Amino acid sequence: MQHNYDLIIVGGGLAGNCLALALKDTGLRCAIIEANTPEQLANSPAGDRALALAAGTVKQLEQLGVWQGIIHAATAIKNIHISDKGHFGKTRLSAEKEQVAALGYVIAARDLETHTAHRVADSDSVRICPARVVGLESGEDAINVSIQQGDESLTLTAKLLVGADGGQSSIRQLLNIAQHITEYGQTALVTTVKSTLPHKNTAFERFTASGPLALLPIANNQCSVVWTRTTEDAKALMQASEADFLAELQACFGYKLGKLNLSAPIRAFPLSLIRAEKMIANRAVIIGNAVHQLHPVAGQGFNLGLRDVIELARLLTAQHQAAKDIGAEDFLKDYAKTRQKDHDLVIGFTNNVIRIFSNDWLPLAAARNMGLTLLDHIPKAKSLLSRYAMGLEQTD
Ligand SMILES: Cc1cc2nc3c(=O)[nH]c(=O)nc-3n(C[C@H](O)[C@H](O)[C@H](O)COP(=O)(O)OP(=O)(O)OC[C@H]3O[C@@H](n4cnc5c(N)ncnc54)[C@H](O)[C@@H]3O)c2cc1C
Repeated sequence: MQHNYDLIIVGGGLAGNCLALALKDTGLRCAIIEANTPEQLANSPAGDRALALAAGTVKQLEQLGVWQGIIHAATAIKNIHISDKGHFGKTRLSAEKEQVAALGYVIAARDLETHTAHRVADSDSVRICPARVVGLESGEDAINVSIQQGDESLTLTAKLLVGADGGQSSIRQLLNIAQHITEYGQTALVTTVKSTLPHKNTAFERFTASGPLALLPIANNQCSVVWTRTTEDAKALMQASEADFLAELQACFGYKLGKLNLSAPIRAFPLSLIRAEKMIANRAVIIGNAVHQLHPVAGQGFNLGLRDVIELARLLTAQHQAAKDIGAEDFLKDYAKTRQKDHDLVIGFTNNVIRIFSNDWLPLAAARNMGLTLLDHIPKAKSLLSRYAMGLEQTD
């Protein structure tokens, strides 16, 4: 095996694989190190989670040549219905009114992860898996990466290391990058339901006193459920009978889709915001969930991570074409500067949604309902929200 690369990516999840694909025709020699075997990744229960992809994300996946091979597994979101349980406020967004084919798409994380992993396996990138990084040593001209692969220990060298190894990033730790953790005391319950009435490609986001509930449209008139509850409630619901779980879900959601029936196991994802103090270190950069693991309430995690990937790939390509050092400190600082604002905005937006909608204090409930109702009557504001949801609008 070759031991010297331009770039070593640690983590063959969505962010790592998309970066390898974005760089595939640039001439940069890439290695990608993944801790799990393809079988372990394909069978992981976490793959059951559905991802809501903004239209902007779909465009970027198209440019990477990924979307064309996976579109058949995705469901278009043609309408978004946002409501506040027990209050009058609601708003609806529609693809037809925005004159677009879809406001976004829903896809099972497993389908997208498996497809991108296959595409990387067919590319020139060297995939080293299963293997783990056990040490890093960055020098003036290169970074040495010590890995353990089975019984074998080896050291690889690169000009730049990219940590794309998720929320529990060991690269972040090895680089001594501090992290800020906000525990929400909440768990996302993820499952699939089949409804007796057609979902008509509508994504529902319902805010309730006990936490937000999202029903995302998927194939065969099913919906993927992401139900955020306190950790205590989630434990009780995981232990409840199927009938009791469904009765509580139905009470929270109502009967807009008729009767709901479970069609998949229920998985629990404990929620916290993990934010790295910085994105870069000597000859290293961290991207995706390794920098920002978000609450799924606004469905922004991968959408944000893909924007890290696209920007890093754009800058790396230009730096390489200009025959400049891709691990140079100034270059990495420029990358971090271009991404900071987007991170701050999305994290701020997600936290505000959680704060404003997880609170039943009457004046706040009244204000947010007024907001939703007003929004429903102001076409321009709705259009702006639609564009934001589609990932086509960045607010200042
Ligand atoms: C319930 C739920 C719902 C969500 N819904 C949405 C949504 O609707 N829209 C959206 O945009 N986002 C959503 N997200 C977020 C989205 O899933 C993540 O943002 C995205 O998967 C992060 O990708 P990543 O590649 O950065 O990290 P990961 O997916 O965590 O991938 C990291 C990879 O690194 C590997 N790895 C870990 N440690 C090591 C190591 N030491 N050495 C080598 N490899 C290693 C792992 O095996 C894994 O393959 C949701 C998340 C959850 C939990």
